[in-house]
Amino acid sequence: MIHEYDVVVVGGGIAGLYTALTAAEQCRVAVVSKVHVTRSHSVAAQGGIAASLGNEEEDHWEWHMYDTVKGSDYLADQDATEILAKEAPNAIIALEHMGVPFTRNAQGKIEQRRFGGHTRNYGEAPAKRACYVSDRTGRAIMDTLYDRCIAKGVDMYNEVFILKLLFSSNHCCGVAGYDIATCEPQVFHAKAIVLATGGCGKIYKTTSNGYASTGDGFALALDSLIPLEDMEFVQFHPTGIYGLGILISEAARGEGGVLRNGLGERFMERYAPNLKDLAPRDIISRAILTEIKEGRGVEGKDYVHLDLREIGKERLAQKLPEISFFIKTYLGIDPSETPVPVAPTCHYMMGGIPTDTEGRVLIDETGTVLPGVFAVGECACVSVHGANRLGCNSLIDLVVFGCRTGINVAKHAKEKDLPPIPQQAESIVVDKVNSLLDCSGNERVPVLREAMQRLMTEKCSVFRNGDDLGQALEEIRQLEKRCLNVGLANKSKIFNYELEEALELGNMLKTAEAIVFSALQRNESRGAHYRSDYPERNDEEWLKHTLVYMAPQGLKTAYKPIAITRFPPEKRRY
Ligand SMILES: Cc1cc2nc3c(=O)[nH]c(=O)nc-3n(C[C@H](O)[C@H](O)[C@H](O)COP(=O)(O)OP(=O)(O)OC[C@H]3O[C@@H](n4cnc5c(N)ncnc54)[C@H](O)[C@@H]3O)c2cc1C
Repeated sequence: MIHEYDVVVVGGGIAGLYTALTAAEQCRVAVVSKVHVTRSHSVAAQGGIAASLGNEEEDHWEWHMYDTVKGSDYLADQDATEILAKEAPNAIIALEHMGVPFTRNAQGKIEQRRFGGHTRNYGEAPAKRACYVSDRTGRAIMDTLYDRCIAKGVDMYNEVFILKLLFSSNHCCGVAGYDIATCEPQVFHAKAIVLATGGCGKIYKTTSNGYASTGDGFALALDSLIPLEDMEFVQFHPTGIYGLGILISEAARGEGGVLRNGLGERFMERYAPNLKDLAPRDIISRAILTEIKEGRGVEGKDYVHLDLREIGKERLAQKLPEISFFIKTYLGIDPSETPVPVAPTCHYMMGGIPTDTEGRVLIDETGTVLPGVFAVGECACVSVHGANRLGCNSLIDLVVFGCRTGINVAKHAKEKDLPPIPQQAESIVVDKVNSLLDCSGNERVPVLREAMQRLMTEKCSVFRNGDDLGQALEEIRQLEKRCLNVGLANKSKIFNYELEEALELGNMLKTAEAIVFSALQRNESRGAHYRSDYPERNDEEWLKHTLVYMAPQGLKTAYKPIAITRFPPEKRRY
């Protein structure tokens, strides 16, 4: 079936819905999502959304911008970061006016709490900057945006898996995919496509991400010869529930929780004397793994404790009900009485599809725009997070740049005619689906997926080195070859999840290769990319963005400069 719209947004998380809602003011918009829209990973966001409202204590957008740039280890583009920090307060008020039920303080204002790396007066002490809805902030924003989109007439196509971007003489003119319920091809013909496909935590063994976070948007881009920017920067959140990776929000430390090693020491005092447990995530994740490596894990094992006892039963129930529930459900312990075993968990992609501050996709180091395609949210890289994202800065990125992308994509759609669509749009999908269903190869999806997850976890996570990365690249390429010989046991066309998982595996392997390839080239340590063979940051050679492309001979890299406007790079001390 072929559907015609002005704008089609692939992805129904907060980035996709905010863009769709804004664009729908001016044109006909559809959202396409491989999971039911309201199950997108954005609903899992717990702790909050950053803005210098100053409702609890003095705050300024310049302080927010400074913290974001410093947190990024000076890799963020400062022109984009300035927009993020400046527009954040109004974005929160806009959400509030739409109906997001933010938690309020005694004066009736939106309450704010502390989060890692957010400080007052350029690093003096932690600042209360995170607005929140208990510890269900993402859910509350998603529900509100979904209601608003429905009221505005945005059409939702749930459980449709997009496989390909379509082009007509270098102008993007649609996307093609299939209906997961029936395997019927679904083609969306539009004046503009917005990619809002989220992250790819599932390429690692332990992750806080949902099952749908398989990097499909990254693979769609690479297949269309669109580069990916700064893919080597993968964030590990310090506090995943040990063994499971389920997230315990930084809000737990914002509310007073502390990390302790096997000796009961509050070890972050040694690594970040000023901000301690509220230092940025890259620093805390490395500190935890260093404690473990040096034998100070709890009972000699590979975890440390998150001690929430000081917060008290009542406040835990009020401010952190969902994570208290997770801890009770998955570990069988009461966090008000017993410390919680935690270890770093793969959480967020700082890199992604390069865009300008209006969401337009850029295809080279000189900023050439690819007409008709836009990207926003975690799959995009407008570069406000650089080498390390601060907590609560993703949600505000989705809203601020979702709004800007929505305005701009609608403008684009109003100015342009509908470009023609390739005739073979439907058959591309039918051929791809049928070739997988018909293939009698002897490789199995779960086996290859596990091998990839183990490899990425062992050789390309918090600590990296050239030898490991070189080996990882070779092994990923072998897995990609084996993936061509995958056979499916389930040949049905009705809700065939094995088929979907095979397609996702192909996307994850492409993404993993781009991450490892970019990481292998960057011979320095910056933010979340720590090379034990190059432990220092090297601004002279590496103060630049990586672009990784798919070329006929395989991946290749190029580099582009960073926008530095207000804050020249300095040493990061916390
Ligand atoms: C547990 C957890 C807690 C977090 N807490 C916070 C927090 O408190 N504050 C904060 O700022 N950030 C937080 N983050 C980060 C933040 O939530 C995410 O970065 C953000 O929600 C990503 O939103 P998105 O709209 O870009 O994508 P997502 O919400 O991930 O949505 C992706 C969408 O793309 C669709 N899609 C993907 N591939 C395809 C395809 N091939 N075809 C069709 N559709 C496709 C999916 O179905 C989905 O609708 C948290 C993240 C996690 C995992």
